[in-house]
Amino acid sequence: MPPSSPIPGPFNPDTNPYMRPVAWAFAQPCFSRVTFVMGTQMGKSVTMENIIGHRLDEDPTPCLYVAPTRPLIDGTVEPKFMAMFDECESLAKKYEARSTKMVKWLGGTKFRFAWAGSATELAADSAGLVMVDEVDRIVNTGEGDTTEIIEARGDAYADSKIGYTATPTHGRVERRKDERTGIWHWVPGAAKKIGSKVWQLWQSGTRHEWAVPCPTCNDYFVPWSDLLWWPGKGTPEECTPDEAFKHARLVCPCCGSMIEDKWRPWMNARGVAVAPGESVSKKGVINGTADTAGFTHFSIWVSGLCSFAVKKSYGFLAKKLLAAQLDGTPAKLLAVFNTGFGEIYAEGGDVPTWEEVRALCWGYAASELLLEPLRIYCTVDVQKNRLVYVVRAWYAGLGSMLLEHGELWGETDQDAVWDQLSELLDTEYGDGHGISLAGVDIGYRDDQVYKFINEHKGRAIALRGRDRLDKPFRKELVEQDKKGKTRKRGDARWAFDSPLAKRWVHSRFGRPDNRPGWWLIHQQVTDDYCKQLVGEEWHEGDGTFHQVGENHYLDCEAMQYILALRDKLQRRKVGSLTLVELGAAVKVPRPAALASGEDPGPDEAPEPAPVPPKAHPGDRRQPAARKTDAAPAKAKAKPRLKIIRKPSR
Ligand SMILES: [Zn+2]
Repeated sequence: MPPSSPIPGPFNPDTNPYMRPVAWAFAQPCFSRVTFVMGTQMGKSVTMENIIGHRLDEDPTPCLYVAPTRPLIDGTVEPKFMAMFDECESLAKKYEARSTKMVKWLGGTKFRFAWAGSATELAADSAGLVMVDEVDRIVNTGEGDTTEIIEARGDAYADSKIGYTATPTHGRVERRKDERTGIWHWVPGAAKKIGSKVWQLWQSGTRHEWAVPCPTCNDYFVPWSDLLWWPGKGTPEECTPDEAFKHARLVCPCCGSMIEDKWRPWMNARGVAVAPGESVSKKGVINGTADTAGFTHFSIWVSGLCSFAVKKSYGFLAKKLLAAQLDGTPAKLLAVFNTGFGEIYAEGGDVPTWEEVRALCWGYAASELLLEPLRIYCTVDVQKNRLVYVVRAWYAGLGSMLLEHGELWGETDQDAVWDQLSELLDTEYGDGHGISLAGVDIGYRDDQVYKFINEHKGRAIALRGRDRLDKPFRKELVEQDKKGKTRKRGDARWAFDSPLAKRWVHSRFGRPDNRPGWWLIHQQVTDDYCKQLVGEEWHEGDGTFHQVGENHYLDCEAMQYILALRDKLQRRKVGSLTLVELGAAVKVPRPAALASGEDPGPDEAPEPAPVPPKAHPGDRRQPAARKTDAAPAKAKAKPRLKIIRKPSR
């Protein structure tokens, strides 16, 4: 192993014992494919290098190594192989001078590098051993499924082997206890819910998982993210990420003992690969027959909690996970579950039904401000015959409450409806809180939108949703209008990553009560509003949103998030409250107290007490259901300002 590796010296599978079954599988004639799935800093690449080096040395066959990009091969992969060839005496002797950067010759055997999209290199010649690193980054190149081309490379060799590895990416799966053996396993998910190629490959193989013994009871179990514990986890008394770093433990699912990180190497040294249907004795002996016995594809998953890297401790992972949960941004959670734990993650969350969205409404009336806001935004979706708008108040820690939603009717190429929007922008809420900024969706009626924005300079901006953007939002100068004429005013618009913003909105539905970043809807939301919020569904399989109904309010709410990011409200932590703390701060009585309170007007009849959304047992990604006692209804439901806007046609 080259000196730059985490643990220098000759490759020793005892430093990362979970690679023993991987190396073993490559040596078994019964397996033609080997897939190993794990997070970062687990030794994946080093293992691939060593298996290729071993094969070239002991049992030569043409080898092919596939990586995501050419720069990665040039800058990282090829130098590491060269270091290995230099260090290993027998390989150094076999290394031939005719070797080039991309094609190595060792003792008459060819070893080639290829990368995704390099159709020529990939199809150049057959190989007895093909290694594919970071397969999830390879197939996501938009040039078709590279694995199909790769699979064809081994055709010329009867005993060819293909190895796949990657840190997994998108997908939704559950873990379930196998009642026959008492061991928890990943349940194979439907293909449309798994965007991660390496996870699909893993599911199609023997589905081994790395199990370790508990130092207390000696029973074997498979570590995964849910077994990681920190003080107050999931409760209002939860500790900080820094405290989690100090006090994190792994909970044994068999005896409940709290395992300290110092046991990690001891447990790993005794680890075994276990497939569904197999049980493990306290001495680490596998019993029974795997459901997948006879498969020619060996696959194994290893949790990041079993990393051999000293740095990747229980505390390190707990701190990362808790920080991401406090933040709640789907992209951050995705990164922690993927790279930290080696688990797939569904960024879209489980989208509730519209009735469940409706049941989330909190105890306050339309237009009512519960607390002094940092900002109030109005976002507008432009349709042919109406403007759809949402007004939302924002607080520290990205908390927010819906003030109003509605439609202003009128042909949007005429001025009348825009005059109505001007009036709306002058609305004041609570004790004189005006709308800080309006964001108007551009892309339809551009001339009218820019005219409106220029008439409200400093109070309105144009927003443009994109299906893909390298950052959440970016300012763009608009040089030309649709007809190709140069715009005189130098209009600007803010492009934003529309799927990212919509995923964030959807992530708010299940926001636990003990986290900041609550996202409230008032008691008078319409069914139409609730339906439109779930008018698009995120599909993990292809990583896109699919429209299933009207979605204008979802667009408006997505733009709200972008305006908050643009004002950097996510950095305003001082005074941020959890939903539980907010309930205490506004001191609202329970729904039961409502009967004896003021008579709410006929159109302000309170909704039934909030009902928890559908729970998903076994799926940790669905945060704890909202507790009824944390979502009290407001007795004084009368809004301080009543605004009714009806179709003007
Ligand atoms: Zn135990």
